[in-house]
Amino acid sequence: MATIFSKIIAGEIPCHKVAEDDEFFAFLDINPVAVGHTLVVPKQETDYIFDLDDPLLGRMICFAKRVAAAQKAAIICKRIGLTVIGLEVPHAHIHLIPMTRESDMFFGRKKLEITPESLAEIAGKIRKEYK
Ligand code: 5GP
Repeated sequence: MATIFSKIIAGEIPCHKVAEDDEFFAFLDINPVAVGHTLVVPKQETDYIFDLDDPLLGRMICFAKRVAAAQKAAIICKRIGLTVIGLEVPHAHIHLIPMTRESDMFFGRKKLEITPESLAEIAGKIRKEYK
């Protein structure tokens, strides 16, 4: 069965997309820990990120780097933090999180409450900066 992220990539489930190329897809996390919290996923459905072959993993990091540059340009923050957890959705993904302090990366705290309209606006700003 396709993962929820494969369904998002296929357009079967809506998302706030920020970037895409032939191999990867980036969209806003639906339960963000910070404004602009973005997920980067490979279109190839693989559960564990370290099961990706080296060249694909390398290209995924380079794609994430371009997305992070767009986030940095679009959102007020000190830098973009990167983390991999992957216990909830069995489809490899990188979290890219705009941060001004370490605690912005903390998944244990209450998630932000952001309206769909604000998510759409944030995604639009990041998309505009993606090169
Ligand atoms: P992890 O697998 O890294 O522990 O967490 C998966 C992440 O995917 C969570 O931060 C969760 O909010 C996000 N997520 C789960 N389902 C959806 C969804 O349907 N749409 C979006 N945009 N994000 C999702």
